[in-house]
Amino acid sequence: MALQTIDLTRPVLDAFSRPISYLRVSVTDKCNLRCVYCMPEGGLPWLRRDEILSYEEIATVARAAAAIGVRAIRLTGGEPLLRRDLHVLVRAIAQTPGIEDVALSTNALLLEEQLDDLASAGLRRVNVSLDTLRADRFEQIARRPGLERVLTGIDAAIARGLGPVKINVVAMRGVNDDELEAFAELSRERPVAVRFIEMMPVHENLGIQTETYISAGELLERFGAIGALEAVPGPPGNGPARYFAYPGAAGTIGVISPLSHDYCDRCNRVRLTADGRLRLCLFGDHHIDLRSPLRAGAGQEVLCDLLRGAMLIKPERHHLKLGEPASRMRALSEIGG
Ligand code: SAM
Ligand code: SF4
Repeated sequence: MALQTIDLTRPVLDAFSRPISYLRVSVTDKCNLRCVYCMPEGGLPWLRRDEILSYEEIATVARAAAAIGVRAIRLTGGEPLLRRDLHVLVRAIAQTPGIEDVALSTNALLLEEQLDDLASAGLRRVNVSLDTLRADRFEQIARRPGLERVLTGIDAAIARGLGPVKINVVAMRGVNDDELEAFAELSRERPVAVRFIEMMPVHENLGIQTETYISAGELLERFGAIGALEAVPGPPGNGPARYFAYPGAAGTIGVISPLSHDYCDRCNRVRLTADGRLRLCLFGDHHIDLRSPLRAGAGQEVLCDLLRGAMLIKPERHHLKLGEPASRMRALSEIGG
């Protein structure tokens, strides 16, 4: 189908009639932290430079994705701010016809210094990972120091209007669960969405995942005990979180519960890995290679056809279970988790 005849107002549907309007793009598999639930201390077998998509290649995929109905793109990794001049990619994506929202998931170590360039290029929102408010514990969980820089990055993002900033907390029993109420309280005072994520099983973390798992249900019970929580629509974005708020609070609380309460029936997303595979589900190995056709000179029409075809192999649901990896990936960072 010629690009001009595509209806830009209607996202493509997958085989289960879910409109696919959201693309997460991993721009690098590398990271400057080594969070215990995400990566082994020694890192992963990193991709070679020539295996990683260039900004031009990513922008080409973004244009094709927009042409089949993707409206929002989130840059992630690994740590996306490690990739040089990320604002160049942000600008290219923000200028893509059809793309309404460009967001970033980051550990925020390098956020403050890049914020002006990113915001001027069209970045609209940031999600920041933060599992503790204690410096010593930050170093235990992330296996590197950096709490102050993360907090500065969050404040800078709020001040720059990139909000509401979402703070992602992986809840871990015996590791940070004595701080979870303090994180919930943060939503009363600050205009942030504090989102608690159930730890997901990937190959490297199966031990810690089974030992520390806390369900979203348990968290909501605990947060309900310190104040009445109301279900609220939540901030704009395209996430799978369910949102709640304390009356009169400046911010919200979200829970992301891939294990205890799956959201597959509402899934509107696909992922582009740093090495150019389009992954159809976070937990499963269904994917198609886009790098080879890109490097063989495929035009937009071919790419659009490939994307549309890929939607037909998006699985109906994941089958994630505590302590069992649901795909061959070693870390979420391999695929832009
Ligand atoms: N480096 C960036 C960051 O940390 O925000 C972006 C990539 S990171 C893979 C994206 C999100 O995945 C973070 O919020 C992180 O906490 C979360 N994450 C990583 N491994 C996880 C796991 N095993 N279970 C649940 N969330 C995980
Ligand atoms: Fe890096 Fe993000 Fe994984 Fe932590 S969660 S190791 S910051 S990619």
